[in-house]
Amino acid sequence: MEIKQLDQEYVAPTYARFPLCLTEGKGARVKDDAGREYIDLGTGIAVNGFGFSDEEWVGAVTAQLNKLQHTSNLYYSEPGAKLAEQLCLRTGMKKVFFSNSGAEANECAIKVARKYGEKTKGAGHTTIITLKDSFHGRTLTTLAATGQDVFHKDFLPLTSGFVHAEANNLEDVKRLAEENPCCAIMFEVVQGEGGVRPLKGEFLRGLEAFAREKDLLLIADEVQTGNGRTGKLYGYMNFGICPDLVSTAKGLGGGLPIGATMLGERVEDILAPGMHGSTFGGNPVCCAGALNILSRVDDALLEGVVARSQYIFDELTGAEGIRSVSGLGLMIGVECEKDASAVIDGCREQGVLVIKAKHKVRLLPALNIDWQDLKEGIRVLKEVCKA
Ligand SMILES: *Cc1c(COP(=O)(O)O)cnc(C)c1O
Repeated sequence: MEIKQLDQEYVAPTYARFPLCLTEGKGARVKDDAGREYIDLGTGIAVNGFGFSDEEWVGAVTAQLNKLQHTSNLYYSEPGAKLAEQLCLRTGMKKVFFSNSGAEANECAIKVARKYGEKTKGAGHTTIITLKDSFHGRTLTTLAATGQDVFHKDFLPLTSGFVHAEANNLEDVKRLAEENPCCAIMFEVVQGEGGVRPLKGEFLRGLEAFAREKDLLLIADEVQTGNGRTGKLYGYMNFGICPDLVSTAKGLGGGLPIGATMLGERVEDILAPGMHGSTFGGNPVCCAGALNILSRVDDALLEGVVARSQYIFDELTGAEGIRSVSGLGLMIGVECEKDASAVIDGCREQGVLVIKAKHKVRLLPALNIDWQDLKEGIRVLKEVCKA
């Protein structure tokens, strides 16, 4: 396998790749370089929300590509302005900062929160409470935000100013807020990399009430849960809470790199010219793709997400060899009696691609996955899970 050898020779070995080289796809179907076809239930980790090479999205992206590919942020450009408008209209947020990835979207939220803390509470009020088993990115600051020591150990010292509370434990959050000069609380409504674990609604509503009481900002990391993945446009919308900052990335671009940090009322005026920036942020091609994606994450699509989710839960809950099923919408973790890696390999051998989250098999199918493909994929997963 020539590509595998090239990669192993020249690409930094930070990824434990599956022994598969993907070459082309359509919808939920993708082919490898030997021409074998697979049903994909991973969407490049919740990125290809409308599957591979979706026709409408390709049209929107290529139309922009043929007009102009990049301008820099020294000039105004239509796709970014329109995308920011849509994001604000659909969420009630007031301003958007564009970047290129989830980690960068979180970095911006963290900078805004620190500046807000200093401004409203005084110097040093910059600590951010995040949750254990969270995942917020790979930069040194977002690693510090990530509540999992395994990601930290080789890269100390990390950015200071982060403390980690037990998920679903409001008392622990309150204790940390008491002991530290805080400015914000940051969370994922479903901890994706942490094992597809949804936070409890009661906890999230408690967090919101506590944050309001203490004038702390609520930062929702919607990098994975956003853009329709959980059955609502953004995951927090399932719980009736209203964050002050929302970061998103993965599914927003439909496959192109884009990050967005949405700023609510409390923080809309925190950033001023020169305080933050990104050369590629707001790239017109990425924004044109995202505009197309966002326009299609409508009520009908979201109903489809909920229906597909229900189908998966119904099929897998209590099935032979399956211990538990967790998640929200089309972000699902399956705890199997067999080792997750063995299940993933078994599925791949039978033509179905699934991924991992901690010790679970993780399903992140396209939001509009064809029902036939979904049924076939789940049938294979169930078969592989049987002892
Ligand atoms: C993937 C992910 C990130 C990091 O996004 P990158 O685009 O890889 O930088 C941050 N937060 C959450 C919740 C994620 O799932």
